[in-house]
Amino acid sequence: MKAETIIVGAGIIGCSIAYHLAKNGMKDVIVIDKGGIASGITGICPGGVRQQWGTRINCEMAKASVSFYQNINEELFPEYEIKYREVGYLYTFHSEEAFKRYEAQQQIQLECGIPTQLLTPVEAKAIVPGLNTDSVVGASFCPTDGFVDDAYHVTNSFADAAKRVGVRFMNDEVTDVHIQSGRITGVETVKRGRMDCEYLVNAAGLGAKQIASLIGIELPIVEETRRIIYTNRVEERVLEPLLVSFEKGFAAKQLTDGTIYLSYLGPDQQYPYDSFLFQLRAAEVGIELFPKLEELEFRSHVDGRYDSTPDHQAILGDVDGFEGYWQAVGMSGHGFMMAPAIGRALAESMLDVSPTIDVSPLHFRRFANNQLVKEPSVV
Ligand SMILES: Cc1cc2nc3c(=O)[nH]c(=O)nc-3n(C[C@H](O)[C@H](O)[C@H](O)COP(=O)(O)OP(=O)(O)OC[C@H]3O[C@@H](n4cnc5c(N)ncnc54)[C@H](O)[C@@H]3O)c2cc1C
Repeated sequence: MKAETIIVGAGIIGCSIAYHLAKNGMKDVIVIDKGGIASGITGICPGGVRQQWGTRINCEMAKASVSFYQNINEELFPEYEIKYREVGYLYTFHSEEAFKRYEAQQQIQLECGIPTQLLTPVEAKAIVPGLNTDSVVGASFCPTDGFVDDAYHVTNSFADAAKRVGVRFMNDEVTDVHIQSGRITGVETVKRGRMDCEYLVNAAGLGAKQIASLIGIELPIVEETRRIIYTNRVEERVLEPLLVSFEKGFAAKQLTDGTIYLSYLGPDQQYPYDSFLFQLRAAEVGIELFPKLEELEFRSHVDGRYDSTPDHQAILGDVDGFEGYWQAVGMSGHGFMMAPAIGRALAESMLDVSPTIDVSPLHFRRFANNQLVKEPSVV
């Protein structure tokens, strides 16, 4: 069996790349996943999409992805409608220094055409009436941020759109990569044995480090556990924008079905968690910021993992000395919101068409050249 391109990983990244390759003319593509479409981290992703980033490259990619999500039904023709809920993200700041520091980030966002507004505590409360602003010195709000809370459906819709023009999807596990004189020639799989290809795309999420190591590439990716807590459903819409406090390590939002999801990311409660202490801390911080949480029950939780890089940025592009090898790895907790832009950028680079966004700052060689692009706004 052979294909011009084999993509390892049918998460949101692999499926977006497959779709964009096919859309730009490369249709002889096979996507291989050991668990199936969206069976990795994408399957538990709550689908937040924000453009309020601290680096230009992330602002540009997020803005392009928002435009894609706003028009996703006309682009992918999904089986049923995908709803991009444009409810905004609200960041709260609790010290003058942090708020002042953030002004430089807002400036980058404005330069990229992202409509971020800096707010007083009173203005923030007008957007989230349940917010306790006692410790809030200021806030940042972008009304075109939002979420799509069915990442599984979005990923399958990318895959379906790619399949309609000939891309093949296979359930199998890649166990080895064949390379001859510095050029990729194929992969070894559990069920199908050898499969030949000219181009190999590593989009294997948490499995990416292993795939790269098969040809001697050492990716600087570490796994970080992140826990999401889900409450009971709340009928009224009480938390429309997604609420984030970097200083308090807190993030929360109300999903379409009324459930509130929240996470505590403070340095005092890192994995492996004592579940009781973790929930207690999440409740303390959450109730302080959003007192209504006191009336809710924590019903369940999910532990997921980030594939984080040293600068919390994805690693995108080819690798010097490995002809035919491409990678889109190390999403560092924001792969879903960047997936449309990343898929398009990878496809454009592979097909050598002029790039819509220059993603070269995120090339693998930045680590060897000591040119990290540190993203400050991570949760
Ligand atoms: C708790 C939590 C909350 C998050 N919230 C958000 C959010 O709100 N917004 C956002 O943008 N991002 C969020 N993220 C991050 C986001 O979910 C990920 O960045 C994104 O889903 C990664 O997609 P991926 O395609 O790179 O990886 P994956 O979805 O993990 O896909 C990789 C695929 O590769 C396959 N694979 C691996 N190895 C092999 C192999 N050897 N052979 C065959 N197949 C293989 C796996 O089975 C898997 O399906 C969150 C993550 C977590 C953990």
